Amino acid sequence: MADIIQLLPDHVANQIAAGEVVQRPSSVVKELMENAIDAGASTIKLVIKDAGKTLIQVIDDGCGMSATDARLSFERHATSKIRSAEDLFQLHTKGFRGEALASIAAIAHVEMKTKQDSNDLGIHLIIEGSEVVSQEVIVTPDGTSIAVKNLFYNIPARRNFLKSNQVELRHVIDEFHRVALPHPQIKFVLIHNGSEVFNLPSSNFRQRVVNIFGSKTNEKLVPVNEETEVLKIDGFVGKPEFSKKTRGEQFFFVNDRFIKSNYLNHAISSAFEGLLKDGHHASYFLFLQVDPKSIDINIHPTKTEIKFDDEHTLYAILRASVKHSLGQFNVAPILDFERDSNLDTPYNYQNKEVNTPRIEVDSNFNPFASSSSKISSKQTQTTFSRKQTPNDWESLYVGLKDEDAEGEPSKEFTEIRFESEEQTLSVFDEVSHVDKVYATYQLHNKYIVSPIKSGMLLIDQNKAHQRVLYEDFLQNITVKESVSQQLLFPVELHFTPQEIEIIKQVREDLEYAGFIFSNFEVDRIEISGVPVNVPSSEVTIILEQIISDIENDIPDSCFSAADLLAKSMAKSLSVKTGQSLSIEEQEHLVNRLFGCKEPNMTPNNRPTFVTMSMEELDKKFI
Ligand code: ADP
Ligand code: MG
Repeated sequence: MADIIQLLPDHVANQIAAGEVVQRPSSVVKELMENAIDAGASTIKLVIKDAGKTLIQVIDDGCGMSATDARLSFERHATSKIRSAEDLFQLHTKGFRGEALASIAAIAHVEMKTKQDSNDLGIHLIIEGSEVVSQEVIVTPDGTSIAVKNLFYNIPARRNFLKSNQVELRHVIDEFHRVALPHPQIKFVLIHNGSEVFNLPSSNFRQRVVNIFGSKTNEKLVPVNEETEVLKIDGFVGKPEFSKKTRGEQFFFVNDRFIKSNYLNHAISSAFEGLLKDGHHASYFLFLQVDPKSIDINIHPTKTEIKFDDEHTLYAILRASVKHSLGQFNVAPILDFERDSNLDTPYNYQNKEVNTPRIEVDSNFNPFASSSSKISSKQTQTTFSRKQTPNDWESLYVGLKDEDAEGEPSKEFTEIRFESEEQTLSVFDEVSHVDKVYATYQLHNKYIVSPIKSGMLLIDQNKAHQRVLYEDFLQNITVKESVSQQLLFPVELHFTPQEIEIIKQVREDLEYAGFIFSNFEVDRIEISGVPVNVPSSEVTIILEQIISDIENDIPDSCFSAADLLAKSMAKSLSVKTGQSLSIEEQEHLVNRLFGCKEPNMTPNNRPTFVTMSMEELDKKFI
């Protein structure tokens, strides 16, 4: 039989390799920018069109290439960066595999112009799908410009797989940050569809962070510096009071390479323990220098995970240094103090009594003296009759306590104080006449109990209110006629340019919902009007929640902005567990809930209430 094994032609091998190296436009951005850094550039300009789908161009003023090297650079395993396997253990460059350019050229139209300082003329190469289409001598500045057009033009399946421009742009910007942050001495520019998104001058690291994440960042940074035998740490953590609900600003660089590590991230969170509000994340920008021999450097080009020899030691050192810095800069003690007084207490709660776990027992409710009419009398506090003796009352209390020990109810009590942290809309969002009156009773500041014909209703106040607000907001946004209240003093809010981009994307919907933007800048916005019933003190929380929701939702779904906004605002503004409601508020909420189109579910498809029929109740007494 004839031999059947054949070597794959280069362009096929390259295409296969490309599948691994290039997953999306941002992968190309990473490879080209890293090459520019390896070439010793002092200015790197990234130009993209349509989030990189149409064009990704990186222009540097680095060492450039000779004509031969320019041609060779597109061959697989062609690299100037290592010569032997030993070199792998003392890498000083980003690249070393020599496969990025070959891979990119296999799946796109590539145009390279490059010139070395010592030459008068440069070279202009055009390569399409691994084929050199043209090679000419040209006049061009020192350095290299590589333009990658029509990515995946010859792999339609991959091209169709790309996400919306919004999503791809976010990936590109993330990659841009990851490369620009550890190289503050290099000037970086990012231009998208003709407009400048970032212009980062050569600076020190603190300035670089501020230039990327906005001028307000400066006051938030706490320096962390530590040097031990195995590890050197430099960089900053964000002060706890500026923590956010988004995980956006978390950067570890190991030997100047961006990495992700849940384990090390945990070290930081545990250093912040007790200092952050629930659901908030610390931000950090940290450089770890370790002996290159102690990490596995044969990292996959697209992977950001890394293997350390001794993770446990790194964890301990990292945690201790961050704790030390927070203490040294007086962050921790001050915060503790503020926490006690007003930091976590919404304005309208400051003067109220603290809701300590208190068990309210209906003294009339005695399982041993059961009759179904007793149960309904439990629903309103006013109808309690006081036949029970204190002793009976105590025995009931004991019974409840036993239940506590089993878990559920006592958990509720601890939740109560946290969940009511944020100021929320009153259930009365308009002065309205309550026409249908249900008898209601609020259970543990969490549930509203109400009798119905067949038995009883148990409504989760937070979930029910989310449904009510969601339908309101959605209605306003979609019919585009909401009412705004003009703020006496416009609120100025600071965000990162990236967050501003996100707000811009949903700006129109926010305006339909009732927000009025009087100014939009790269790192701040000014708001002069908010939807009726939204307290101006809540604006930041709402917008942060929206940004975080969009960031978390975008990657896998093509979302409806209106729906997401309505959900997000409903979540932020709904009454929380732990909030005590007057009888009128309870009744109003019940009426509003059953006026909804879909009263039984929250916007996120959780039940808003459960019913219990008399039969079910009766069975419990058998
Ligand atoms: P690697 O970076 O792993 O060596 P690449 O395929 O990314 O592999 O690049 C191949 C080679 O092309 C590099 O080793 C380098 O010599 C050269 N090269 C690539 N980009 C540039 C650039 N912007 N300036 C100068 N030389 C470059
Ligand atoms: Mg490279």
